[in-house]
Amino acid sequence: MNSKIPEDLIERAHKGKSTKEDALLLLDVPPFELFRFADELRDLAAGDTVTYVVNRNINFTSRCVGTCRFCAFRTNDGKILSNEEIMEKVKEADKANATEVCIQGGLLPDVGLDFYQGIVEAIKSEFPEMHIHSFSPMEVYHASRISEIPVKEALRRLKRSGLDTMPGTAAEILSDRVRKIICPAKLKTAEWVDVVKKAHKAGIPTTATMMYGHVETLEERIDHMLIIRDIQKETEGITEFVPLPFMPYNNPLGEKMMREGRYSTPGLEDLKIYAVSRILLHGHVDNIQASWVKLGKKLAQFSLHCGVNDLGGTLMEESISRSAGACHGEMITVDELEWMIHGAGRIPKERTTMYGGAHELASRNHRRIAGCGAFE
Ligand code: SF4
Repeated sequence: MNSKIPEDLIERAHKGKSTKEDALLLLDVPPFELFRFADELRDLAAGDTVTYVVNRNINFTSRCVGTCRFCAFRTNDGKILSNEEIMEKVKEADKANATEVCIQGGLLPDVGLDFYQGIVEAIKSEFPEMHIHSFSPMEVYHASRISEIPVKEALRRLKRSGLDTMPGTAAEILSDRVRKIICPAKLKTAEWVDVVKKAHKAGIPTTATMMYGHVETLEERIDHMLIIRDIQKETEGITEFVPLPFMPYNNPLGEKMMREGRYSTPGLEDLKIYAVSRILLHGHVDNIQASWVKLGKKLAQFSLHCGVNDLGGTLMEESISRSAGACHGEMITVDELEWMIHGAGRIPKERTTMYGGAHELASRNHRRIAGCGAFE
């Protein structure tokens, strides 16, 4: 184990030029040195404020033609929510002061882009202020194939219908070797990158995720982060990076791992991934998000000292991680999130999906109140 972080590595990190070798070396220094350095860069990029968004997840179906081996969510006969049922959930989200709805679902064999546009248009017609953060690159790719239109055109139409941003999910590990093992039917690395870059160019920012802790090597994790950094250098369309530890329960990939005596990643390894991603993405992606659903509340709280500055959303209805064994709840209240953040010695702040602060939230609430008044 290297006893300390070399000066030239620190310099490169400050300039946003960390290398793959730097990242591998960082994984080998004493953890608290790594966390201290990541925390220093977190302070430079985001200060002491820790943000969160009040949002609601809506999964319109668990039916899916996909074959991802890590998936515990897919069913063959799950319900497909109608637009009316989706709108009911959006209404509840609005009542609970959510500023964002995050809609994703399984891949249905016979629904094309119209289906996705219909959801977005229904929401925007009743809730024009609700930020629609929806549809993974895989869903967009799938819909464009079913509708036989290019991805670029599909994104243009979704944007025109009112789609604001997209979750950068379906990224898993951006390595075709890994994807062949864990999700052979999913879009390949280059295709994921292509959809995300085209989304940015169409005016649809995205997040970027990484699901780690299964068959990938440490190098493949680092390569994934470097791909995200390269996209950001080109488009500046990534709002945050979200490392997600793999949940091994109720899915074939995890069951095989557990038979071999391998379980989910140790908490220390999770924290090192958050810290290394902060360092590697410094100067490019300012927001590193920890998932309280996957990490649990206490480890998520501790991650705020390892480079993390955002705790994601309140969710209201989390079901994907829960089906894979997460047992930290389907939602969290604003009070509890803020309590966690204060407890870590940081300052909580509600944000919009695009990391806007009080001003944007206040003007949105003002418009909402004005809107209600018009009905009375
Ligand atoms: S991860 Fe998504 S695409 Fe893959 S099987 Fe599950 S629901 Fe389908």
